[in-house]
Amino acid sequence: MRGKSKRGLILLVSLVGLLPPAAEAGDERKQLAFEVVDRNAEQMAAISDSIFYFGEPGMQEFEGTKLLKGTLEAAGFRVELGGAGMPTNLWAEWGSGHPKIAIVTEIDALPSGSQKPLEFTHTPLVAGAPGHMEGHNTHGGVASTAAFAVKQVMQRFNIPGTVAISFGPAEEQLASRPFLVRAGYFKDVDAIIYLHIRDSLATGYGVQNYAAISSIFTFHGKTAHGAVNPWDGKDAVDAVELMDIGFDKLREHLRPSYRAHRTITVGGIQPNIIPDTGQIWWFVRDASMPAAKTTYDKLLKIAEGASLMTGTTWDVKYAASAWPQLVTKTIAEAIQKNIDMVGVPQWTEQEQQFARDFQKSADRPVVGLRTRPDALGERRQATSSNDNGDVSWVVPAGLLNFPSSVPGIEYHEWHAAVTPVSSISHKGQVAGAKVLAASIIDLMTSPELLQKARAEFEVESKKTPYFSLLPPEANPPLELNRAEMEKYRPEMRKFYLDKTPRFN
Ligand SMILES: [Zn+2]
Repeated sequence: MRGKSKRGLILLVSLVGLLPPAAEAGDERKQLAFEVVDRNAEQMAAISDSIFYFGEPGMQEFEGTKLLKGTLEAAGFRVELGGAGMPTNLWAEWGSGHPKIAIVTEIDALPSGSQKPLEFTHTPLVAGAPGHMEGHNTHGGVASTAAFAVKQVMQRFNIPGTVAISFGPAEEQLASRPFLVRAGYFKDVDAIIYLHIRDSLATGYGVQNYAAISSIFTFHGKTAHGAVNPWDGKDAVDAVELMDIGFDKLREHLRPSYRAHRTITVGGIQPNIIPDTGQIWWFVRDASMPAAKTTYDKLLKIAEGASLMTGTTWDVKYAASAWPQLVTKTIAEAIQKNIDMVGVPQWTEQEQQFARDFQKSADRPVVGLRTRPDALGERRQATSSNDNGDVSWVVPAGLLNFPSSVPGIEYHEWHAAVTPVSSISHKGQVAGAKVLAASIIDLMTSPELLQKARAEFEVESKKTPYFSLLPPEANPPLELNRAEMEKYRPEMRKFYLDKTPRFN
């Protein structure tokens, strides 16, 4: 008898041992967060779908930020619109003091991205208009719903701290985050989580994405008749060409990780007019910002050489810059646990069939939707850039992708605008909001986790000390996409959903 009950006790103890430490308290909070997300799934879809139809590119996110401001204020958040000199920069927060955890994301569309949802052929809602061919519209719903769920949990369980959301303008033009960092938005933030749509539920760590520097070079010469007195002219477009050739000569001597691409934005008027203005716009990228800056400094020398050879003068204007994202492993591990807990959505056979048909029609591998989350460590450094990278060099960062798009469908082309408004997108948003809320709750309630993330950040960020690429006199490019938006908005307005989402 005694032996038997002892064995029973051992069995009981070993079962308890299987549970993660402090699972009960943590799970109760997360359970509430999940309930809040489920209960508000329709509100979340209303936010994301509304932003899709607004279709506003960078610096023109006026309707989108207005809707988010109204929704978040009604939910009790303090909302600042227009900070750091950008009318569509939105910062929202609830609570007070530390820990202060912020979601960092964006809601901008892309020029010429207009597309009717669920159509497999290129069918713009408004021909030529901007639209969401990357699905940033989903960020609006997921970020605000997750923040609301965290607020509900903080209230119920008396958790101290602040939950914040930063919707930065014009991510697609890498145009706002260096300004947000310069304005000090992240000075008293303890940790951030980047939020971005993807075709999988995933996180990552280490250096993600590429550093980028974007600048516009203008050469100034002297005009003359191309046949009558060309010797009196100084050809500014010759300088543009020589700059291009000069850089091509340099390519052999750059490290293999570099990327550089350009477009000639002013190339003369007609052949018999010696052009007094020439302009070329460059992007220089590399795996780290110091490496990109080294190449960029050589590009400046090439511009100087081109001007010497042609007798022209030149100037350079900063257009944009982005550091790669430095993502801490500590936060990634915490996010991964929540990813594994929430899991990918249960797709219906209809949704899987839709995805396969879509992949087939887009000439992509026919693999359907992902049925399990990515394992930690699968993400490699991509060669594209996101200006939110700057934030991760001043505050410890985590990263979350949620499964609201179809595998194999690449962003920045109309195919990617087919599914941001769909049941696939909506289900992926629910999974994303749950993982995001749970991960913020972890950061809010575990001082050890925050300390460990901070310690890791201190070591990793010191390996490449942050410097801003912003010239002191630089101002945010508020005119960006304005003409296009003004041209198309009246036609686009006909598709607005006219919804007023309210969390409950
Ligand atoms: Zn994006």
